[in-house]
Amino acid sequence: MQVVHEPAELRRLCDEVRARGQRVGLVPTMGALHRGHLALVAAARERADVVLVSIFVNPTQFGPGEDLDRYPRTLDADVAACAEAGAHYVFAPASDAMYPPGEETRVNVGATAADLCGAHRPGHFEGVATVVTKLFAIVGSCVAVFGRKDYQQLRVIHRLVTDLFLPVEVVGAPTVRESDGLALSSRNRYLREGERPKALALRTGLGAAWDAFAAGERSVTKLRALATAPLSAVDRIDYVTVADPDTMRPLDDDARAGDRVLVAMAAWVGKTRLIDNLVLGEDERPYREQT
Ligand code: AMP
Repeated sequence: MQVVHEPAELRRLCDEVRARGQRVGLVPTMGALHRGHLALVAAARERADVVLVSIFVNPTQFGPGEDLDRYPRTLDADVAACAEAGAHYVFAPASDAMYPPGEETRVNVGATAADLCGAHRPGHFEGVATVVTKLFAIVGSCVAVFGRKDYQQLRVIHRLVTDLFLPVEVVGAPTVRESDGLALSSRNRYLREGERPKALALRTGLGAAWDAFAAGERSVTKLRALATAPLSAVDRIDYVTVADPDTMRPLDDDARAGDRVLVAMAAWVGKTRLIDNLVLGEDERPYREQT
């Protein structure tokens, strides 16, 4: 497996892959890789001949006061994990390779990015859309795999690819969880001892909404209340939203859910911001009760 640092070199390698009649698979990440990321590599390997993992902590998707400086950077371990998972290339550019002096262009996102995390992290999805567009432009025609863990991000990228006619097939892969249901995240390593049980409140809320939906509950107010109740354990709630899973538009409290409905949440445990979601009617229950 080869580590590539320069965009021009990556473009050349990807052109070569396609010239051989093969398909490129791209897995964009910010590193600090865990089993969730490696499941995306496996999904890319099923769909592509040559798999490329990008590792780049993208400064433009962090707001002032967010965790850009302390975001975990573990490149050596990440490269080893990618090799083990069967990736062919890691693309690890320097910050000024992706944002050279004088650069100023940003990708403007729309309604899909307006609510949920978009409302709490101004500029976040513009930064995501910008860096993902840069990656797609460097890599060219490919299949790109993203996690449903960041469900709104996945929808924003679907929209981006459609709206800008980008030659990319976007695939969403299921959220990988610990056996107790906690969604894997690079930020879980910020959790202190004693905070982890509080972090389970997110999956408990989603599990309660999942059970009620499976039993026929379609009231948006009730689904939202069930998902919210266990969050009394966390330190702060950013949002718990019931929304259309395609447009990301929040549903009114007096509305009724259809056959598929998104329940998504973001909450703080200590200094750690956690997100989780389920598309009820589509996703599996996040965990099984221990008997
Ligand atoms: P990140 O490095 O956190 O920016 O994530 C890179 C990619 O991995 C994104 O497409 C995420 O949605 C995905 N991802 C992160 N955590 C998980 C998880 N627990 N299960 C599945 N995909 C994940």
